[in-house]
Amino acid sequence: EIGRLAVDLGSRRYEILVGGGLIARAGSLVLPLLKNRRVLIVTDATVGRLYLEELVHSLEAAGIRQDSIVLPPGEATKDFRHLEELCSRLLEARIERNQMILALGGGVIGDITGFAASIVLRGVDFIQIPTTLLAQVDSSVGGKTGINTAQGKNLVGSFYQPRLVLADIDALDSLPRRELLAGYAEVVKYGLINDPAFFSWLETHGADLVEGDTAARRQAVMTSCAAKAAVVAADEREADQRALLNLGHTFGHALEAECGYTDELLHGEAVAIGMVMAFELSAMLGLSPPEDTARLVRHLAAVGLPTSPAAIGRDFDADRLIHHMQQDKKVKDGRLTFVLARGIGRAFVSREVEPAQLEALLARSL
Ligand code: NAD
Ligand code: ZN
Repeated sequence: EIGRLAVDLGSRRYEILVGGGLIARAGSLVLPLLKNRRVLIVTDATVGRLYLEELVHSLEAAGIRQDSIVLPPGEATKDFRHLEELCSRLLEARIERNQMILALGGGVIGDITGFAASIVLRGVDFIQIPTTLLAQVDSSVGGKTGINTAQGKNLVGSFYQPRLVLADIDALDSLPRRELLAGYAEVVKYGLINDPAFFSWLETHGADLVEGDTAARRQAVMTSCAAKAAVVAADEREADQRALLNLGHTFGHALEAECGYTDELLHGEAVAIGMVMAFELSAMLGLSPPEDTARLVRHLAAVGLPTSPAAIGRDFDADRLIHHMQQDKKVKDGRLTFVLARGIGRAFVSREVEPAQLEALLARSL
């Protein structure tokens, strides 16, 4: 019933467990990793209302004492002010180095909690209990933690691996459909990068997954985590392998920045549109068959994801989008990095896109 994946980073090894009922069983699952029978739980108010009691109950049943810290939900929580508040509250709770922190929530809670865990007392172990699809297939795996600053998203943080990831797919039942779909875009991404068979599988089972099919959810989360773990293990720190995970993100981030990182456009929605633009650019450059772009658009639309900037319902200016792309962390010597494709499942990193080609693509897409 529980899928198990090992992430092997040489110096550090940990497991990702995927299945139903994991929060209810968390006590016995985390117990073997504890050096001290007291843990600190960090969550947000929305997730706390839904799952904190279940988690606390399961910890108590296993003889584990706990304290919890509840932060406000939303991207705005990932800032210096809340990081300071979180660190203060961990210290006020008299956290000790041999204690474990549990991050219960979506990517916001995982990112800020992982970062706090990496700096409080110069590093305390932590466990990820991701409750959004995005967090289960993406942010909880790979060890990137961090916060946003006035200068941009995720510019301050650390590489810090969890000791365990518990992806309870039952938690996805309470997730708003729009959030679920946003996470689904990252699932599709893994198929597009290097797993055409997985993309085909999603064409058949994606709609079931969205509608709540447990088996489909477990399989998709397992396959996605395995894909990300493989890339991360090959290349823990950013380089070309890891850069493939940015498929759709160069365009996506620019659209998100224009929308001000608000609910107008969720990250995963931006990625869905960005992936289509990356395939369009690849087709325009004669690298990828146009049929593959059409197939991608069909699948995203079938599950209910947006496939073009027009779907956002505002006018985008090409120069402003290019300006945002140039702010990206991955820009080297002023050259933009794109993840292009030679077709579905055949992505590669390119720094060869000429400004005129990018402008031509934007002129068509916007
Ligand atoms: P999130 O944590 O804000 O969660 C989205 C919303 O869903 C929140 O309002 C939350 O309270 C609510 N929620 C969470 N779980 C729920 C559940 N089971 N039922 C009902 N509601 C629930 O956002 P997210 O999409 O999970 O993560 C986005 C963040 O992840 C961004 O800050 C992004 O930068 C980060 N991220 C990090 C990495 C990484 O490698 N570290 C990768 C991708 C994204
Ligand atoms: Zn993403």
